Amino acid sequence: MKSIATDDPKMEVESGVRLIDSHAHIELEPLSAQVPEVVARALVIGVVGIITVGIDIEDAKAALKIARENAIVFASIGIHPHNAKEVGEGDLGLMEDLANDPKVVAYGEIGLDFFRNHSPHDVQRGVFGDQIELAKRKSKPLVIHLRDAYAEGLGILEQKGPYPAGGVIHCFSGDESDAQRALDLGFHISIPGTVTYKKNNQLRSIVSHIPEDRILLETDCPFLSPEPFRGKENEPSLIIHTARKVAEVRGVDLIDLASLTTNNAIRLFNLPL
Ligand SMILES: [Zn+2]
Ligand SMILES: [Zn+2]
Repeated sequence: MKSIATDDPKMEVESGVRLIDSHAHIELEPLSAQVPEVVARALVIGVVGIITVGIDIEDAKAALKIARENAIVFASIGIHPHNAKEVGEGDLGLMEDLANDPKVVAYGEIGLDFFRNHSPHDVQRGVFGDQIELAKRKSKPLVIHLRDAYAEGLGILEQKGPYPAGGVIHCFSGDESDAQRALDLGFHISIPGTVTYKKNNQLRSIVSHIPEDRILLETDCPFLSPEPFRGKENEPSLIIHTARKVAEVRGVDLIDLASLTTNNAIRLFNLPL
């Protein structure tokens, strides 16, 4: 595989690689101010699709606007557990209406976050449950966010299943048994840039065991830049570093890993690519 040098030191191009960033926030600052450049840099490294994830009503509208304006961008929308306490009467109905847009390919990120605790746990549980039902009514795949809440979050999902449209646990940070429960639900597991972090042996071990047809890649940008950009602003073009690490851990060629994760994303989200 040939590497092509570009002017931008952040860019590393390998020909033939096709990648999908299955979870990004290019509708959030600072990326929202430079969407055309961000998309152009992603295209250069071989990104063929970006799912940008709107985390409340206003953000969902922003995500959808970007998706309508950019052929390779698609939207997922949902009320993030951080924002659960702001949900008012009629808000979920509004989200349900927005979800009718053909550029909305998934529902979420929804779930539980008992790490940051921006919303009371009871409120998070209620809004999570209501939105699981909303997504099922819309036959949309689910994008799930769980942090320090794997046991309970997976329990809720198990209770409310099955999920004919499938789903993904994004930015996976659980243990082996959480991964198995997610797979048993029929869900995919999405691997972020944290897989490149020196101490993250647990995630690398899980990555080596995920079945071929259930693994996705994501940036969760502008957060969680992979090494060697840890601590800096993340963007979809940096997914190449995550892909390279996952390929290394699984002992496969980058080009094959890219094509298999891309095909998985196309299938799960029904992308017209
Ligand atoms: Zn998340
Ligand atoms: Zn996210």
